[in-house]
Amino acid sequence: MIAYIERFVHENDVDSSPDPDSAADYTSEVLSDLRVAAAIGGAISDAGKDFGGIQFSKPLAVLRPSDAADVAKILRLAARSPHLTVAARGNGHSVNGQSMAHRGLVIDMKSLGCGIHVDAAAMHADVSGGALWDDVLRHCVGNYGLAPRSWTDYLGLTVGGTLSNAGISGQAFAHGPQTENVTELEVVTGNGDVLVCSTRQNSELFFGALGGLGQFGIITRARVLLQPAPDMVRWIRVVYTEFSDFTRDAESLVTRPVGDTFDYVEGFVFVNSDDPVNGWPSVPLDRYGSFDPARISCSASPVLYCLEVALHYKNEDSPSTVDTRVERLMVGLRVKEGMRFETELGYMEFLLRVKQVEEEAKANGIWGAPHPWLNLFVSKNDIGEFDRVVFKNILKHGVGGPMLLYPLLRSKWDSRKSVALPEGEIFYLVALLRFCSPYQTGLSVHQMVVQNQEILQSCTKNGIDYKLYLPHYNSVEGWKRHFGNRWTRFQERKARFDPMAILAPGQKIFSRNW
Ligand code: FAD
Repeated sequence: MIAYIERFVHENDVDSSPDPDSAADYTSEVLSDLRVAAAIGGAISDAGKDFGGIQFSKPLAVLRPSDAADVAKILRLAARSPHLTVAARGNGHSVNGQSMAHRGLVIDMKSLGCGIHVDAAAMHADVSGGALWDDVLRHCVGNYGLAPRSWTDYLGLTVGGTLSNAGISGQAFAHGPQTENVTELEVVTGNGDVLVCSTRQNSELFFGALGGLGQFGIITRARVLLQPAPDMVRWIRVVYTEFSDFTRDAESLVTRPVGDTFDYVEGFVFVNSDDPVNGWPSVPLDRYGSFDPARISCSASPVLYCLEVALHYKNEDSPSTVDTRVERLMVGLRVKEGMRFETELGYMEFLLRVKQVEEEAKANGIWGAPHPWLNLFVSKNDIGEFDRVVFKNILKHGVGGPMLLYPLLRSKWDSRKSVALPEGEIFYLVALLRFCSPYQTGLSVHQMVVQNQEILQSCTKNGIDYKLYLPHYNSVEGWKRHFGNRWTRFQERKARFDPMAILAPGQKIFSRNW
């Protein structure tokens, strides 16, 4: 049974697109067909905006189903209408309107509850598609001493939301993205069928839905692989002035056998200046650490590079044992004196590290400001050129937030899944996590969007092999280019699992058919 429906009232509707009356009428029919207990009129919902703060839409209604059967009812009813679309909204942390449904129905996935059932013997958890990773972490570690193997940096994201993209962080080089760490899904297809799928059962749906941008079905449950959780983490940052030293060390760490390297490998680019957000102060790991610019040569480039690694350990490991393991793993890295920063913290605290950033950003008003983020996967073959053209040139003053840069291994990504990757075994995540200042300093939102376009144009002009991560295109041509020789398969899966193109209209890949 649907718990309740939150109707939007568009008093200030200035949109000149086709009159939504018939869709609104149909929605009323949906309400009555579903025997909804109450519709809350006049409530302003967040469903018309997202974390990006650039795109806005006007959904007809926000639906709060309580289980997969409810989700199926909504999809079947939408299919009977001439034009209704349905978007699953996880935590709305997309940046380009991907979880929106303009004049359509938005399903609030969090209403499914954060159901998490751990099978400790089998080392997996069955988790609701609407659960936050934050909740998964606390439940699994707190009650069972177990934890998922692959994470995102920030955990205020839903399981279904990240699985629809990939879900990456510093563990992905070893375990693959989150999409490689689930063994079974329950999915409600665009046809309104509730299907359990895995590599052996309904495999085409399983592969399609993982990284499938919500196009083939709504993930209502995922079986997530677990491993024993460590107690503590040694977290280390090492600064490089030379890009080639940074990439050589980062690639060396991610290509060593698991167990012979760190548990987490990431990196970032920062500005060679005292800028508090983009520069030297962004490097030290605790408030007592300080960056000594005297150690950087005057001829160094406008940007510097920081490798970030972490090693897990247990409470019973003695400090000297941990030191020995760390130093063994550091052997061969080109670490310069005074350019190493480190700290120790609990495993949960480490995984929840961005929560603190969120709280600070909320307090100073930048969390709610627009975020024109750009995320790319760039082939190792072209990452040097990318550094020259983009980091050292277009972005030499930073982006007002982190510029993540770390290598990943293609062999850890199953090519039967939907994510598009550049060529070659090693490719880099480039995440330009722009924050707009509410105090009118730095670039305006518009200028940031224009700079993103400039970066993509420079990539194309310089023949840089890249794919957008969390992709966003406004034309089918853009999507065809993005998927390349996987486009036909993507289309075939759409025709099979959501033939009327009801699902995830905010991705702007297919238009509603009937
Ligand atoms: P939404 O934005 O609500 O939805 C995203 C898309 O998935 C939409 O098309 C939606 O319709 C669809 N969808 C949502 N739920 C489901 C479901 N259950 N079944 C099918 N489709 C569904 N990504 C990383 O990989 N690594 C990171 O470290 C990382 N850090 C981030 C930090 C922040 C602060 C933010 C804002 C984003 C970050 N992301 C990261 C990106 C994030 O993974 C994606 O934006 C993700 O889609 C957000 O999850 P969500 O639950 O908010 O999904």
